Amino acid sequence: PATINRIAAGEVIERPAAAVKELVENALDAGARRIAVGIERGGIARIEVKDDGCGIPEAELELAITRHATSKLTDEALVRIATLGFRGEALPSIGAAARLTLTSRPRGQDSAARIIVAGGAVGAVMPVAGPAGTSAIVEDLFYATPARRKFLRSVAAESSACADVVRHLALAAAEVAFRLDIDGATSFDLPAQDRQARIAALYGRGDAQAMIALDAVREDVTLSGFISPASLTRASARHQHMMVNARPVRDPLLRMALRVAYREIIPAGRHPLAALWLEIPPESLDVNVHPAKSELRFAAPEAIRSLVIGAIQRHLATPAA
Ligand code: ADP
Ligand code: MG
Repeated sequence: PATINRIAAGEVIERPAAAVKELVENALDAGARRIAVGIERGGIARIEVKDDGCGIPEAELELAITRHATSKLTDEALVRIATLGFRGEALPSIGAAARLTLTSRPRGQDSAARIIVAGGAVGAVMPVAGPAGTSAIVEDLFYATPARRKFLRSVAAESSACADVVRHLALAAAEVAFRLDIDGATSFDLPAQDRQARIAALYGRGDAQAMIALDAVREDVTLSGFISPASLTRASARHQHMMVNARPVRDPLLRMALRVAYREIIPAGRHPLAALWLEIPPESLDVNVHPAKSELRFAAPEAIRSLVIGAIQRHLATPAA
């Protein structure tokens, strides 16, 4: 089983940021109201994700780190609404590639329990003291998979990839309090907020105030969010975030639609700011293209493309008073 897990580990967890994404998505799936993420040395030395979600019962801790164990909905359509991930692969993959310490106390239970898995070797469940919720600590990522370790970039690059992932998730779930610490320094510590306040916290207050609210509906697809006027652009596309069914995605079609919508009104080499939420029936999506990379495929890409381009152009032409 260790061999199988090590192969899977390289597929699901390609770099520290992928582990961060999986752990934070688990916290969101657990209904957390508060999530704290700590990253050390690019996430290679240590990743910690703490939540106040539903917790994992002691009797299920071992199952949670066993390959293909998921406590989540098995109805395919509901699974796709709930998460963009493979089912039950993240924790076993992380546990195969690193040392994973999972500590959890379900709400309403008075003690916590802990399990440690290192390089695929599972230890015994131990009772410990701890707050309600779950803490996942990943140490020495890829120590057990040296081939994968070789592909890591600099600590600074891995660190900023981790921060990007947390920022994107924090934007997607503005109603959850989010904290990020990198090498002991707090990057942000945000209360539960509405979307606009969260954008202000992550993009800057001035930029957020200048942005234009956008809403559009076509059949069963809804687009909402905030875009910058043509006068507000950046040298990079770092302030463009897309969410599909409340989860962060990096989707080429959505990025291209944004570029096309602004093409004639902003200078070459400049990028608009945008935080866009797309709500789409799960059966119109194929999220299994490559969940680790947040890629997805729309059943009707042309309709999505024209919805996004049309909505942006209409809102830029008639900005809200
Ligand atoms: P998946 O999220 O696809 O179900 P994972 O490997 O990410 O698979 O997690 C396995 C299981 O462990 C989850 O189904 C869930 O039951 C449990 N779990 C993991 N993280 C948490 C968490 N932060 N809070 C509550 N339960 C969790
Ligand atoms: Mg998961």
